[in-house]
This record gives sequence, structure tokens and C-alpha cells, in this order.
Amino acid sequence: MERGWAGFSTPETHGKWSLRASATGELVFDNVKVPKSHVFTTVKGLKGPLSCLNSARYGIAWGAIGAAMDCYMSALNYSKERIQFGRPIGGFQLTQKKLAEMITEITKAQLLTWRLGVLKNEHRATPAQISMAKRNNVFMALTIAREARQIHGGMGITGEYPIMRHMMNLESVITYEGTHDIHLLITGMDVTGIAAFE
Ligand SMILES: Cc1cc2nc3c(=O)[nH]c(=O)nc-3n(C[C@H](O)[C@H](O)[C@H](O)COP(=O)(O)OP(=O)(O)OC[C@H]3O[C@@H](n4cnc5c(N)ncnc54)[C@H](O)[C@@H]3O)c2cc1C
Repeated sequence: MERGWAGFSTPETHGKWSLRASATGELVFDNVKVPKSHVFTTVKGLKGPLSCLNSARYGIAWGAIGAAMDCYMSALNYSKERIQFGRPIGGFQLTQKKLAEMITEITKAQLLTWRLGVLKNEHRATPAQISMAKRNNVFMALTIAREARQIHGGMGITGEYPIMRHMMNLESVITYEGTHDIHLLITGMDVTGIAAFE
């Protein structure tokens, strides 16, 4: 498709509170005529776009771990520096519970995604396995961002720490490249053999 063709427009999406550093827009097709010269010669059906999505979703699975690690590290450092009631807040059991659960979930996600990478190198990773990793890791990162925000107390809402930036960006990531719910349905279809969606 090329800009300027009749019926094809690309309006920009304004007012975003997530991924604000990048431009986002719609591709609108209204009775567009595509000449044969612009049809892919080697790609048939949806296979091309879907293989592209598979790679992007695999990348997102790793990217989400990075966001989770940044939130965790910030919370860990803050918990050792912030003194309340005469001791670092990292010395309280409830803070340690949050940190211990964060690093456990990060480690589980790393292992899941590392295994997926091994399968991908062997050309054995299935789209459903990639769905599982994307869905799990983004949700894990969002949950960790929220817990990390709590450890930072009121300071956690400021731009002095990376938490809110990750949290807001992850709200896009949980929706794009396949929504959280649709990836769940893909896993459901994978284990039952029955599609719950059209
Ligand atoms: C910042 C940003 C960047 C983006 N970049 C791209 C891009 O580069 N390329 C691209 O192609 N798209 C991109 N998208 C679009 C993104 O992929 C879509 O927003 C996403 O697929 C959801 O589609 P939708 O917004 O139309 O929501 P809808 O399809 O309207 O879904 C709304 C809700 O209903 C649920 N739902 C819908 N259908 C069903 C069903 N059958 N069963 C159960 N639940 C259902 C969904 O899970 C979701 O929770 C981007 C989006 C954002 C926010």
C-alpha cells in the first residue's frame, strides 16, 4: 500500500497515556484498489503476517522481562535505602514477600522464555507456545510494576523512578500483538482442540 492512494488514509492516534514517545496511527482502507504489481509474490494468505507476529510476540516476551527486572531492581534498591521506623523498609516481612515473589516470577518467566528460545532455534516453537510466553510475561511485568510502585510509596508515582513509565507502557503491550484474553483463548484452543473464537 502507498500513501496517496484513493481510499487509503493513516490518521494519527492522539492523547495517548502509554508509549508516548512513539507515534501510533490507524491504517484505514475504504474501497482501495491494489494493483497486481503490489501483491506479494512469495507470501500466500495470512502466513506472512502471522510469522511476523510470531517473531514480534517472542521479542515482546523478552522485553516484558526487561521491564519487570527494571521495576524489581528499582524496588530492591529503594527498599534498602528508605528508612522508616528506624530500619530499611526492606527489613519488613511484607516488603520481603513482595521482593521474593517478584524475583520468583521473573525467574520463572526467564526459564519459560529461554526454553522457548531453544525451541525456536530448533524451529520447533509453536504459535501457541509463543502466545503463552507473551501473555504470561506481560501480565507478570504489569503485576511486578504495581508491586514495585507500592514499595516506592508516594515516590513511586514520580518520574524519578522508572515504575510508572513501565506500567503505562505495559498497558499497551498487554493489548497489542494479541490481547491478553485472545492469547488465553489460543492456549485454550491448543489444549482442547476447540476454538472458542472465530
Ligand atoms: C500503542 C499501540 C500500538 C499498536 N501498534 C500496532 C501495530 O503496529 N500493528 C497493528 O496491527 N496493531 C497495532 N496496535 C493495535 C492492537 O493490536 C489492537 O489494539 C489490539 O489487537 C486490540 O484490538 P482493538 O483495539 O480493536 O480491540 P477489540 O478487538 O475491540 O477488543 C476489545 C476487547 O475485547 C476483547 N475481545 C475482542 N474479541 C473477542 C473475542 N472474540 N472473544 C473474547 N474477547 C474478545 C479483546 O480481548 C479486548 O479485551 C497497536 C495498539 C496500541 C495501543
